[in-house]
Amino acid sequence: MTYDQNNIFAKIIRGDIPCNFIYETEHVAAFDDIAPQAPVHVLVIPKGQYKSLTEFSAQASAEELEHFHHAIAHVIKDKGLTENGYRAICNTDSHGGQEVPHFHMHILGGEKMPPMLVKS
Ligand code: AMP
Repeated sequence: MTYDQNNIFAKIIRGDIPCNFIYETEHVAAFDDIAPQAPVHVLVIPKGQYKSLTEFSAQASAEELEHFHHAIAHVIKDKGLTENGYRAICNTDSHGGQEVPHFHMHILGGEKMPPMLVKS
């Protein structure tokens, strides 16, 4: 499957859809999730066209990887998550329940998270 140029995060990166970045470099952006699941719910995305963690881990440059991890560190500190912790989630492909086909990491915090998985 090729990268979908019209996915919502591609549009945000291009500036087609307005978005208030809380952190940005030439390789990465971070912004609040539009439908927060916790008091803090930030998405960290690379600007490169990677569909999933699978692709990003295998194909990103050292600089892209570094910027991505620095963005996560910035968000954690900026949102005051250092002391009590947080949850980082990366839904991947169909079994992982990924909805937007552009790699993103959810950073959730600000309260105690419920159990991670609920089996139906
Ligand atoms: P996932 O299910 O892991 O692909 O998560 C996609 C996330 O993107 C969801 O938590 C959505 O609420 C979020 N989302 C979708 N559109 C936007 C948007 N325009 N701005 C911020 N977050 C968005």
